Amino acid sequence: MTTSNRSLISHRVEGFTESVIRGMTRLAQQHRAINLAQGFPDFPAPEAMKRAAMDAIAGDINQYAITWGAKRLRDAIAAKVKWYPGIEADPETMITVTCGSTEAMISSLMAIINPGDEIVVFEPFYENYGPDGILSGATPRYVTLREPDWSFDERELAAAFNNRTKAIIINTPNNPTGKVFSREELSVIAKLCQQWGVVAVTDEIYEHIVYDGCEHISMATLPGMAEQTITINAASKTYSATGWRVGWVIAPPGLTNAIRKVHDFLTVGAPAPLQEGVATALGFGRDYYEGLGREYVEKRDFMQTALEGAGFRCFKPHGAYYIMTDISGFGLPDDVAFAHDLVQRVGVAAVPGSSFYHDRALGRQKLRFVFAKRPATLREAAEKLARVKG
Ligand code: GLN
Repeated sequence: MTTSNRSLISHRVEGFTESVIRGMTRLAQQHRAINLAQGFPDFPAPEAMKRAAMDAIAGDINQYAITWGAKRLRDAIAAKVKWYPGIEADPETMITVTCGSTEAMISSLMAIINPGDEIVVFEPFYENYGPDGILSGATPRYVTLREPDWSFDERELAAAFNNRTKAIIINTPNNPTGKVFSREELSVIAKLCQQWGVVAVTDEIYEHIVYDGCEHISMATLPGMAEQTITINAASKTYSATGWRVGWVIAPPGLTNAIRKVHDFLTVGAPAPLQEGVATALGFGRDYYEGLGREYVEKRDFMQTALEGAGFRCFKPHGAYYIMTDISGFGLPDDVAFAHDLVQRVGVAAVPGSSFYHDRALGRQKLRFVFAKRPATLREAAEKLARVKG
């Protein structure tokens, strides 16, 4: 019992809503529905990576790694990013290993944001970026990506920059839209970053999941941008190990120094034996990444056909492993009610589109489906979805 009316909860956290993505996962479990809501694979992670982590545990790599990442892993990251996507990163001064890309993003923002600073965020956006803004104290300014190709208006983007702008968050390939930002689009953003002295914080976790001959371009590889870009990535999607929580940040030495301090005091470090497993995975040859891309394109095509057959209008993704759909063909007013009905009546979970927009109205006729699943899971989901209208 408290004796005053003072809330025990911080204003900061009171501003949060619960993660809709994780909430849908719990609802799916409750109703034994197929979970096409939260983005994680239901197929095994690579054998060699798992073996390396198990060997590390057996070999007693069970104490803290160096706070900014085991040397073997930082060296492996530097060697890998040099050939793809073409980033030069000194493992001693430019790489910080984190607990997934989630921690990479919040540590990066906390390292650069002062009270009153603004960040530019494209919407629809991966829902964590909202609370990331609140936790770091940044004021977000949203710029809308417009369907069907999720392009942005250059004037609208330029108008979002001002003297208070500290950073812009980019996610390419993009969750939830599947957009892969082109070199031209990234150049427009880079020019604004240079003009206003703004940091590009770029989440490239789906860098190896691209389709239709699209090329993933890293902001840090654009002329002059390495000095003001923070590149975020993780093992989660590329090596199908979302539960390992091993991610990393690449940034110039000055920024890295700041990010390492935040990271150290927030988490001390990512799990040491899992860092060894990821170091092994980063040494996989190009055939691994080509195989990953081939498997995902088949899954995308299967899922898009199934969704269209069931009455959803699909925005064909060119990257990442989600399909954003338009549900206006069903004639229902609300994405959340529709998503709940889909779990309970049909047995398939998806994410309501409104959770990807600060202006919720923009997502009321949208649902996002994940297709990072085994063929058998996707087939079962397709059979269930065929009954949506019935
Ligand atoms: N990035 C994944 C998604 O958008 C998983 C999110 C999460 O729960 N960490 O579904």
